[in-house]
Amino acid sequence: MRRRLAGVAVGLWALMAGPVTAEGGEWSAADGRLLPERPVPGSTVQVLTKVPVSVRFGERDFPSFEIDKGRWRVLVPLSALLKPGEYPLEVTADQETRATVPLTIAPRTFAVQRLRLPRDRAALEATASEEAAIGAALRTVSPVQLWQLPFRRPSGGRISSGFGLRRTYNSVWASGYYHRGLDFAAPTGAGVIAPAAGRVVLVGTTQRGFRLHGNTVVLDHGQGVTSIYIHLSRILVRQGETVKAGQPIAKVGSTGRASGPHLHWGIYTHAVAVDPGEWLAGRICCRVAANFGGRAGDAR
Ligand SMILES: [Zn+2]
Repeated sequence: MRRRLAGVAVGLWALMAGPVTAEGGEWSAADGRLLPERPVPGSTVQVLTKVPVSVRFGERDFPSFEIDKGRWRVLVPLSALLKPGEYPLEVTADQETRATVPLTIAPRTFAVQRLRLPRDRAALEATASEEAAIGAALRTVSPVQLWQLPFRRPSGGRISSGFGLRRTYNSVWASGYYHRGLDFAAPTGAGVIAPAAGRVVLVGTTQRGFRLHGNTVVLDHGQGVTSIYIHLSRILVRQGETVKAGQPIAKVGSTGRASGPHLHWGIYTHAVAVDPGEWLAGRICCRVAANFGGRAGDAR
């Protein structure tokens, strides 16, 4: 029985997901799906399975969370710096059951922004404590999903800089840089709302050394999803507080390294900045890139 099902599973893998290796047998219990249909740099990929799994992509392992009875999901962030092409996703269901699923990342081009900054502004760098506090907040992984799609726009301002832009500062290529969010043009004092429910995991202020980001809020939305709000003039929430979608959390400002008042807003999945556009559109789901494993219940 076990051997026969394993054969079926491997056959389906080969048929539906290209070259695949599977070890250990009843992989069909996982009955996996890969979303979205056409991932690009900046996408959040979802691996949906019927059993708990972990997914290895690049050098990192990403956990699954149960999203419904018998349905599990892994969120895998794609950096805007990734080159298009085929990458292996190693899906592990238990010690013996694993498979390698090919993930095809489609090409995407990002504009290059050439910025001139006065010498003192260009030299403004984050303090070590600022970097550490923000890094820790963005790495938060809590088990309960507080967010719902689609995310709301956190600001009513127009989008002045898109996600993924590359930059030069005073004609010097900013290597490893991409714009890790969206900028909204809005006057100082304009409202900022929580785009989804969450918990405030960081409140940082210029007085406490947030030299580059200025006044900063980070929200944890659960299951590895966080969001950041920087350059704020005022902060209306406290660390540890839970917020509802639409709740005012801050006011737009130009604190830290900002050329004028605006809101910089980023969404992070497992500490990697991903395209907020997908979350605003509610498109981090839906059209399937690949099915893998067998039919539901094959191995039950
Ligand atoms: Zn920005």
